[in-house]
Amino acid sequence: MLACRASFTQRLLTNDVWRVLCGVPDMFGKLDYDGHERVVFAHDEATGLKAIIALHSTRLGPAFGGCRMWPYEDDERALTDALRLSRGMTYKAAICELPYGGGKSVIMADPAKQKTPQLLAAMGRLVESLGGRYIIADDVGTTLADIAVMRKQTRYTAGATNAAQARLAVTAYGVLMSMQAAVAHRFGKADFSGLRISVQGLGNVGMPLCQSLREGGAELIVADINDRRVAEAKQRFAAKGVAIEDIYSQDADIFAPCALGAVLNDQSIPRLRVKLICGGANNQLYAAHHDRDLADRGILFVPDYLASAGGVIDFYQEMIDDRPEAILQSVERIRSITRLVLESAKNSGRTALQVADRMVQQRLRAASTDEIRG
Ligand code: NAD
Repeated sequence: MLACRASFTQRLLTNDVWRVLCGVPDMFGKLDYDGHERVVFAHDEATGLKAIIALHSTRLGPAFGGCRMWPYEDDERALTDALRLSRGMTYKAAICELPYGGGKSVIMADPAKQKTPQLLAAMGRLVESLGGRYIIADDVGTTLADIAVMRKQTRYTAGATNAAQARLAVTAYGVLMSMQAAVAHRFGKADFSGLRISVQGLGNVGMPLCQSLREGGAELIVADINDRRVAEAKQRFAAKGVAIEDIYSQDADIFAPCALGAVLNDQSIPRLRVKLICGGANNQLYAAHHDRDLADRGILFVPDYLASAGGVIDFYQEMIDDRPEAILQSVERIRSITRLVLESAKNSGRTALQVADRMVQQRLRAASTDEIRG
């Protein structure tokens, strides 16, 4: 894809403009485009900001999603990331019946070297220019402090309260809720005792998840590219550390991907020996057919957007009641939704992902019908 340069004095490139300027005839046919309502490309020459905001859907409410700052190799990768992540946000919010749509922004920059208050302020102005269609939050490469800088330029930010500080653990709590329901469904067990669980990635999600699983009696097998984190998990949770590539072939009951997307693919799936997959990483399937491949191997896959929806629920809950106990209680709904999805999948012969996707699409369709009637 060609890079598109335009000075951004609040000059936003809508899809149509982008197509004309950059000559990308297959933009709307791109697999990840998936009916996005709007994709905004912005370049602010004064601050060096190069950003994309993808708004997948605002049918259920303003598009909500984090801002990722990453030194992408090229524009195409940044766009793909924004599109896939914003679609995921629509699905997370809809499956949890939250009054939000899905969006995501990416800033093409190295957070360690290129993050300046001026650049963040320009991002804030960009968000403001969308008039509330997009609510921005922190994500990989951005922090709550960065969002606070943006907040001076825009009303449309989330994660303002102290409770937001605890959000990273909230995502892990949501994965735990989902896994509890899935363990009851798959193994008929009310706790994790005697279960071997392999966890890929020991960051903000993986490490607190390990702690809860260990407290619940699980035996842990872990892998991370960061040796210090593996050492910490070994010491704190008596976990067994394995090499990065070996995490897929472990003799375990459950696999919890908590590092990267696209880890369930043609190479990894044949090696899996688990009966259940439930983790916090976004977009775990490399391609849609991998859901069926897992089912054919008797592996129950809990939709990643459901298991990892704790952060979105938290943002919503913070606006109503930001006491930590209220937030945790609201995240617990992930357990009952997972139970519902898994039971419905069992009764209908569909995969859990197919059932969850249908529920989301029905909600989106119903909202569109309401709009037309209204
Ligand atoms: P993080 O950066 O804190 O942790 C990721 C961990 O994975 C790091 O320890 C990293 O060293 C490790 N890692 C990277 N590549 C690896 C590999 N090939 N094999 C094993 N380990 C590897 O990120 P996080 O906040 O814990 O998020 C983890 C995943 O969950 C991401 O996919 C993220 O998009 C998703 N997610 C996070 C949140 C959240 O609130 N943090 C919410 C929803 C989804």
